[in-house]
Amino acid sequence: MTAVDDLRAEVALGCRILGREDQGDFVWGHVSCRDPDGRGIWMKAASWGFDEVGAEHVILVSWEGEVLEGDQPRHTEYPIHTELMRARADAGAVVHTHAPWSVAFASTGEPLRPMSHDGTLFVPPDIARFTETGDLILTAELGRDLAAAVAGRNAALMVHHGIVACGPDVQTAVMTAVFLERACLYNMRALAAGGPKTWSSDEEALAKREHVYSPYAAWNYLARRLT
Ligand SMILES: [Zn+2]
Repeated sequence: MTAVDDLRAEVALGCRILGREDQGDFVWGHVSCRDPDGRGIWMKAASWGFDEVGAEHVILVSWEGEVLEGDQPRHTEYPIHTELMRARADAGAVVHTHAPWSVAFASTGEPLRPMSHDGTLFVPPDIARFTETGDLILTAELGRDLAAAVAGRNAALMVHHGIVACGPDVQTAVMTAVFLERACLYNMRALAAGGPKTWSSDEEALAKREHVYSPYAAWNYLARRLT
């Protein structure tokens, strides 16, 4: 297996993990990683559900959106991935999903409270939010605006749309999306029960962020569950 074969398999596995974690929206949502030769991104192809994706459904898309390798169609929202990776040299992988609890939580307008381990990965400060549009990200300009909203953070809520998460590798980006959806689920449960009354202080949250969760251990577990 070449390095690219490994990356395509990782992107595909990341898609299947997100599918198992209920982040699929029929055939929409995508995972990508940076091409090691700088040609663009290896990205899940359009028209497949997360649970169906194999390495053959991961295609090479140029920085301008041209399909360079693979015989599958590309998603129209590729600028989410290309522009975030252009803006962030440390982002080796990007995830975009229509994660249902995150979408519902974003619509409350409430601050995300670090009431569980998951939440400390995103707060403080409050989770980043992209509010310019809830419509699709179809242009490089909108992709750049989304990247500006993410800034130096690991994720953002795309209000009225979904989430975006990034990381140095596919494992981290995928697990960041999984952790964000769980953090929003806990917040929604607390809001439904009258609203959260306590949560970690900023100091405790920042300390927990450094050592509570390893994305790799959780990724390995979720990967084992799929086989
Ligand atoms: Zn979308």
